[in-house]
Amino acid sequence: MFDTIPDMASKRAEISPDATAFVDAGSGREWHFSDINMAANAIAAGLRRAGLQQGDRLAILCLNRVEFFITLFACQKTGIILCPLNWRQPAPELVETLAPVGARAIIHDAAQAGLAGDVARAFRIPEFAMETDIAGWIEAGGTVPVTAVAADQPWYLLFTSGTTGRPKAVIQTAQMAWANAVNISQATRMTAEDRSVNFLPLFHTAGINLYTLPLYLLGGSSTVLPKFEPGQIFDLLRQGKVTQFFGVPAIYQAFSLLPDVGEINWSAIRCGCGGAPLPEPLIRLFSGLGAKVLNGMGMTETGPTVFLMDPKNAERKIGSVGRAQMLTEMRLDGVAAGEAGAGEIQLRGPNITPGYYLNERATRDAFTEDGWLRTGDVGRRDEDGYIFIVDRIKDMYISGGENVYPAEVERVLNEHQDVLEAAVISMPDTKWGEVGAAFIIARPGASLNPEEIRRWSRERMAAYKVPVKVTLVEDFPRTAAGKVRKPELRSLLS
Ligand code: ATP
Ligand code: MG
Repeated sequence: MFDTIPDMASKRAEISPDATAFVDAGSGREWHFSDINMAANAIAAGLRRAGLQQGDRLAILCLNRVEFFITLFACQKTGIILCPLNWRQPAPELVETLAPVGARAIIHDAAQAGLAGDVARAFRIPEFAMETDIAGWIEAGGTVPVTAVAADQPWYLLFTSGTTGRPKAVIQTAQMAWANAVNISQATRMTAEDRSVNFLPLFHTAGINLYTLPLYLLGGSSTVLPKFEPGQIFDLLRQGKVTQFFGVPAIYQAFSLLPDVGEINWSAIRCGCGGAPLPEPLIRLFSGLGAKVLNGMGMTETGPTVFLMDPKNAERKIGSVGRAQMLTEMRLDGVAAGEAGAGEIQLRGPNITPGYYLNERATRDAFTEDGWLRTGDVGRRDEDGYIFIVDRIKDMYISGGENVYPAEVERVLNEHQDVLEAAVISMPDTKWGEVGAAFIIARPGASLNPEEIRRWSRERMAAYKVPVKVTLVEDFPRTAAGKVRKPELRSLLS
């Protein structure tokens, strides 16, 4: 799409120097675009003094804070590749995740000092503390000549959520960032007037790219919360400080349980959702409160915005993720263009990653011969062209010769008034090959028993889909983004 892309922090500072880029909810500090650029120049200079060069990986381990974004821009200026790490992973797991990618240095905040120390020792690299070293660099000022990095070369790396296995390091480029900004602003009508709140973790694509980075590129502002704190978010919503935000289904689930959920003026806020299946009762609950929760679908590999439901048809096409956005082409494997049907979703466009970092084999496997990304997700197109995510191909199982998509069973279970959330996996069965096993989180205060779930299922689905085993649990093993880790759920079965 582009050959080169200007240094984003300095461009924004040139165009709207005095506009608010960020408010740090932790410190209360307001940052203008010019402040961000100056600080990014200073961090770039500090990184150079520390000996980091273009192409070196810089690990970062911190709660959400504005300095994270400043460091990201410093990396664009220098060609150093930022590599955000998940602070929820214990040190040995972090080391294993980072090993294929490597790092020349690590930046951390005070809360992550112990964990970062373990990583620094494992890789024998220097560590820099946000509160002292990085703050000192910003204080000292300075700048470096901008390194020209081609638009399709690595800017930063993001690990996938690790829902189906070990997280993979996905290359993120400046081109992807701009393509995402176009896709998301087309879909949500986002402009420089918008104010968002950032609370999803910055080591995943949703934290950076929905909506903070695209909104920055468009000149709008974001309040950065250290992490997900529903009470704090509701305060901002009540004060009218937010015009739009993005959450994953687990966030809306948490909001729905707050006693003051009905006191927010939801109709004034554009709410996006994606990352995992969004239970329809939740969509209905929020639309009853005046909100339109727009369901979308994206991946780390796609920058991430691909699909987003349009507000006009959100209720008529409940459960759909809408259509592929402006810069992304989609095809369903095995389904003729424009026809209704189901198949693997394959994607092409400037928002798609060039591949997994230093992993040619995984990259080759992820693309078709003619260059389309295989998402590993099955989608269904209805007669009006709307896309519904059926399930991950990996989660599908075969029972007595019939394909079962666990997400379809989950959708039915989620409709039960006493079910807060359901997760279905397969288990081996001598007669049928595989059968379903359901794990259920009951609504607070509800009394539910496995037989009731089976009765509900028998009345609403084909016999081969009815879960044979039903287990009530307090919560599921989850990724940092709240997704259910089905491989771990499987180990609970034995
Ligand atoms: P890993 O690739 O490590 O197993 P992951 O696929 O969960 O983890 P992400 O890139 O964060 O990592 O998530 C992308 C995936 O999330 C998609 O491929 C899809 O399976 C799922 N997903 C995203 N949005 C939706 C949605 N609206 N409905 C259902 N599934 C979704
Ligand atoms: Mg994936």
